[in-house]
Amino acid sequence: MDNTKTLSKILESIKNEVSSANYRTWFSNTSIASLDQTRLTIAVPSAFIKEQLNIRYLPLIQKAVDTTLNKHLEIVFIVDASKTTTMTAAQTAEEPEEEFFQPVAVHSTPIVNPKYTLDNFVVGLSNNVAYAAAQAVVQNPGNSYNPLFIYGGTGVGKTHLMLGIGNAILAKNPYYKIIYCSSEKFTNDYVESIQNRKMGELRAKYRSADLLLVDDVQFFSGREGTQEEFFHTFNELTTKNSQLVLTSDRPPSEMQKLEDRLKSRFQGGLMVDIQTPDLDTRVAILREKCHEKGDVLPDDCLNLIAASFETNARELEGKLIGIIQILKIQNTPPSVETIKPLLGMQANATSTKITHKQVFSSVCNYFNIKQADLTGPNRKKELVLPRHIAMYILSEELKLTVEHIGQLLGGRDHTTVMHGRDRIKSLLSTDREVQRLWTELKQALAGSN
Ligand code: ADP
Ligand code: MG
Repeated sequence: MDNTKTLSKILESIKNEVSSANYRTWFSNTSIASLDQTRLTIAVPSAFIKEQLNIRYLPLIQKAVDTTLNKHLEIVFIVDASKTTTMTAAQTAEEPEEEFFQPVAVHSTPIVNPKYTLDNFVVGLSNNVAYAAAQAVVQNPGNSYNPLFIYGGTGVGKTHLMLGIGNAILAKNPYYKIIYCSSEKFTNDYVESIQNRKMGELRAKYRSADLLLVDDVQFFSGREGTQEEFFHTFNELTTKNSQLVLTSDRPPSEMQKLEDRLKSRFQGGLMVDIQTPDLDTRVAILREKCHEKGDVLPDDCLNLIAASFETNARELEGKLIGIIQILKIQNTPPSVETIKPLLGMQANATSTKITHKQVFSSVCNYFNIKQADLTGPNRKKELVLPRHIAMYILSEELKLTVEHIGQLLGGRDHTTVMHGRDRIKSLLSTDREVQRLWTELKQALAGSN
């Protein structure tokens, strides 16, 4: 049996044992790095997945491996950074962006299908220059604007546009090697490769890209080693006409603690900004998001919502989801009259509608654990993350006090709650897997109403 076959057999038996959402989250992007008489090395996309597989699924995996191969092997996980972040020829035309945007239904409720393409990117005054630049890059990657530097505030569509470029280029040329990463990811890879003395591999990986997409480069600030490495990566890529697209929350000139030579590289191509959307663009974004979700709101409702919230696309979408959710709960048809009263209150829709019991059951469902374990005294690793997440939701979404949360979770001290909540908070800003998990849980919670 070759490795691919072996893996698919192993995965087949794991698939039967876990929920499909969990399967997709933890197993879908694994591969066999090596297999010998004593040891099976499985490559996974991130350190977070590695940790979770180790603490939550090792016995299950061990069993699947032993039965499939009919012998006992040691199982080792290694992180293959190229996994989550590389759109390769293997994932060609059929589902080019699957890695990034695969909608993961935790419950059976229909959810947003977050496919980031240029087609579903709404163009308006706030972003038309950036969009035109993106198209130029797609037409002629490596030869039009290099790098394309997209900057703007949070939630205005930088990541969407950047990945739209990736998907469009991939659709035209499935053999293009495209690497997408956040600047933190690049930094982590760099640090890890120094520790493991694997600089060669790091360079081979990033410098082989035909298109390198780096998100949120403002986080390179203050990281001298990373900047140096990225500078050389940048030079090598542009020398061979590979395209770079970078996003940032501010223009290079305003990036503190960024080496001048890197600043000038960032400024050396085309810099475009995306602004908070104007009213017409907001209406159009709302229409697009309704369309994607299969919801229909009359134009006057869209106009009213867009006029009520002068905010970025991400928040706007959040408001829209909140409003639609309440209308559904109330079983009211959407109209200006029915929506008006919701405009003020929907911001906290989730928190006012959801109870701690729903939070517990969603979290337990998601992680496949018992509620008694969640609130119980056991400090096993596989219970800690779900517990921390529950703390986070109860605190941030339901706005319960840490003392109250401690009581609900089986009489825990409030400092424990604060610690758990803050851990998730910080993971949410750095760890994509946790971000994904959070999005899915939110959807599950919304669906639990
Ligand atoms: P940023 O990276 O600037 O923080 P994102 O690209 O993550 O923002 O966008 C946030 C959300 O808003 C995403 O769901 C994205 O699809 C949506 N969005 C932003 N701009 C647009 C747009 N012009 N058209 C459609 N959706 C948009
Ligand atoms: Mg972004």
